[in-house]
This record gives sequence, structure tokens and C-alpha cells, in this order.
Amino acid sequence: MKCEKCVEAGQKSRVNSHGGMSTLMGYSPYYDEDGVYHHHDGNRKTNHYSCSKGHHWVEVGTKACPAEGCDFGGVFERREIDDPRVGYPARSFYNDSGSLRIGQSEVIPMAVDRTDGSDGDA
Ligand SMILES: [Zn+2]
Ligand SMILES: [Zn+2]
Repeated sequence: MKCEKCVEAGQKSRVNSHGGMSTLMGYSPYYDEDGVYHHHDGNRKTNHYSCSKGHHWVEVGTKACPAEGCDFGGVFERREIDDPRVGYPARSFYNDSGSLRIGQSEVIPMAVDRTDGSDGDA
């Protein structure tokens, strides 16, 4: 994964994953008429990322079904969080109506990398 804003700007950056969260809807995997295993997890995942240039965003979507030819899930939509503050709400996520829900005031400090790749990542 690359930071799209940095790619647009022709910059290089390291992307940090801050983990994510999920809704907690129950579901049951099943085998279809051809014995193919389907895993239709309808829970929306929200994964948080930031880059070493200070951009941050979330990706919202559902996990893909592993069955070949099944188009369930697998589409993750990137949404920018244009918050000029350093850090962002760790427990924020988009609800089903598409608005950002912020549950707690907890923030994750941005790990801004000012040395820009001199730490030996190869
Ligand atoms: Zn970036
Ligand atoms: Zn499926």
C-alpha cells in the first residue's frame, strides 16, 4: 500500500497501519450447491492508516468472500481524514449512513518521520 496523496505529489512515504475495528454482526459461512465454501462476513471493517508525510485516512469495507467467482465484499473505500491536528481519533469510524462517528477523544500521535528513510529500511 502507498499513500495516494504522496503518489499524486510524487513523494515517497512510509505507511503506518494503526489497526482497525469492525461492526459485530453475526453471520454463518456456508457451502453452496456445488460444495464451494462461502464466507459472507457483512461486517464493515474500518482500517486506519497514516503516512510519514502526515496524511491520514481510513479504509472502509467488507472482507472478500474467498470463493472463486463470488463478488461478495472485497471493496474497500478510501476516505481522507482532513484533520489538521496531529493525531486523529483512534475510535472514529464511519457509520452506515456514511458520516464519521467519533466515539472517544483518544488520539494516536502521528509518527512523523523527519529523517525520511534513513533508518535502514531496505
Ligand atoms: Zn502521504
Ligand atoms: Zn461467496
